[in-house]
Amino acid sequence: MAQRYTEFAPLPDVAPIGAAWPTPNQNLFDAPDRFFAHTRVNPDYGRPGWTRNCGARFHRGCDIAPVQPIPTGQTAVVEFTNCETGEEYPSEEPVFLGNDPIFNVYAGVVEEAIANPRISDLGSHVVMRHRWPDGTTFYTLYAHLSEIAVSKGQRLAAGERIGTMGDTSRSEGARIWLSIAPHLHFEVWNHEGQPLDPVAFLETHLAR
Ligand SMILES: [Zn+2]
Repeated sequence: MAQRYTEFAPLPDVAPIGAAWPTPNQNLFDAPDRFFAHTRVNPDYGRPGWTRNCGARFHRGCDIAPVQPIPTGQTAVVEFTNCETGEEYPSEEPVFLGNDPIFNVYAGVVEEAIANPRISDLGSHVVMRHRWPDGTTFYTLYAHLSEIAVSKGQRLAAGERIGTMGDTSRSEGARIWLSIAPHLHFEVWNHEGQPLDPVAFLETHLAR
C-alpha cells in the first residue's frame, strides 16, 4: 500500500532541466483555468495540495485538462459538497471525454507500464524513472490512461508519447469524477517516492 503523504518534499535545488509538457495543453502560465481540470463547484479540483473535499483531502498530483474536452451528450450524477455547511447534494453534470496524447516530460526509463484499468485508483498508468543532473533519481507518474504505448524498461526521450488520456480507475467514484472533469493525473516523486509539487516542478523545469 502506497504511503499517504500529506505534504510535498522540497524540489531539489538544481538548474532548470528543460522538461517537455506532459500533454498538448500548454495553458499553465497564460490561462491556468484551462490547464487544470475543474468541476462546476470546485475551481481548484485539479490543483495539487489541499484541494479536495473542501480542503480536507491532500491531492498529490495535478490534473491536466484536455485541450478540447469532447462532449458526449450524456450526464452523470455526482455528489457535490457545500463547504460552508458540509452538506452533500447530488447534481447532474454533463459528461466529457479527454483524448489527448500523453508525453514523457524528461529523458528516462519506463519503470512501470500497467495496462490494467482496474488495478488501482490510478487505472492504467505509467511511471518513468529519471535522473537529475547530479545523478539522483526521480520519478514521474501518468495516470487514468486509456491506452499505453510503452513497455517496462524502454528508454524514452523528453516529449516522446507514452499513451492516451483516459478515464480508467478501480474506483467507480473516481471514474464518475473523471467523466465530468476528464484529465491526466500527473505526479512527480523524489528518489524515495515522496511527492514533489508537480506544478512547481513544471513551472521550474519546463523548457520555455
Ligand atoms: Zn489527480
